[in-house]
Amino acid sequence: MERADAVATSYAEQTGGSPDGVWAAPGRVNLIGEHTDYNDGFVLPFAIDREALVAVGRRADGQLRCWSRQEGTAPELAVADLAPGVVSGWSAYPLGVVWALREAGVAVPGLDVMVDSDVPVGGGLSSSAALEGAVALAVADLTDSTLSRTELALAGQRAENEVVGAPVGVMDQMAALLAQAGHAVFLDCRSLRAQAVPLDVAADDLALLLVDTRVTHAHATGEYGARRRSCEQAARVLGVPALRDVTPDQLDAAGSELDPVTRRRARHVVTENARVLATVELLRAGKIAQIGPMLSASHVSMRDDFEISCPELDTAVTATMAAGAVGARMTGGGFGGCALALVPTAAREELTAAVRAAFAAAGFRAPEVFGVTPTSGARRLR
Ligand code: ADP
Ligand code: MG
Repeated sequence: MERADAVATSYAEQTGGSPDGVWAAPGRVNLIGEHTDYNDGFVLPFAIDREALVAVGRRADGQLRCWSRQEGTAPELAVADLAPGVVSGWSAYPLGVVWALREAGVAVPGLDVMVDSDVPVGGGLSSSAALEGAVALAVADLTDSTLSRTELALAGQRAENEVVGAPVGVMDQMAALLAQAGHAVFLDCRSLRAQAVPLDVAADDLALLLVDTRVTHAHATGEYGARRRSCEQAARVLGVPALRDVTPDQLDAAGSELDPVTRRRARHVVTENARVLATVELLRAGKIAQIGPMLSASHVSMRDDFEISCPELDTAVTATMAAGAVGARMTGGGFGGCALALVPTAAREELTAAVRAAFAAAGFRAPEVFGVTPTSGARRLR
């Protein structure tokens, strides 16, 4: 409860009163299923033990005031004036959610919002969706809204798309709102059906280790757009609504219709969807250690077919595997960010040292290496 006390104290310092409540929502890591979301495919994220907290209180005068212990004070605004284009800076995330919920029919009152998050910003762990998830649940609770958690996740996505102006999918918000402790969220990005899949790694004496390379290669955004266009082109040539509708065998048979590069891009997406489904089956059968080869095959596919890895990510994967990881892959959009390794708990320290040594030998900036535990989604703390 320490962190809940701290955010409530900061709230009191700014407003002179106590909040109506404190809510939290987590960041996330994607276990497997990369670049499948915009192809109507499957993803398998889990919530991590890093969270955004918000202390929120209603105001009678219809004004919105936001503070962040990390980012400072945001300009004040009336609920009635909220609209895309009106808010900029970090408060576009929380106030974007308030706007999206108002658009969804929620009678939003004036609010004071104090934010405190330990999800690192821009590190690929989705600090934005954590913040959106916490605010969405807070507003829903304070207004006795009947919106489902999926609808709250969609409000977060809409905030980010229309108020922040970032064309993101809904995976991160779904993880932040729907995750359960000890489970991953198996999400069908076409139907938005989400199912909890057991991921109790500790029970199998395994741990999930994250290697943050602390690099972001500058061409990432342009390459992301190019990959999306390749996937759309492949679907068009193959005559399907999205690559989700193609099996690996069908793609093999369609050989000559696609140019070699587009074909490799499509092969990543098609085989990655198959790997997510296989991973879900293994986890449901309690065979956690056996997902290792799926993770490693996913990395090879992103490195060679989708071509979105980089030397730092490849080094993280090679070094953890050489030191005894069960499986490892880059996670996130690519060209930097984090790699995820499934490792025997007993070998954690040794593995961490091996990764650091490999980065030093390659002349890379020292990585941050830390464990993550599958935790629960957004919740009220008090
Ligand atoms: P990420 O991968 O971490 O989600 P984004 O660029 O999508 O990166 O979102 C990061 C943005 O979210 C920050 O620039 C800031 O505007 C907002 N944000 C995240 N955490 C906080 C916080 N603790 N306080 C205020 N704003 C935050
Ligand atoms: Mg984000």
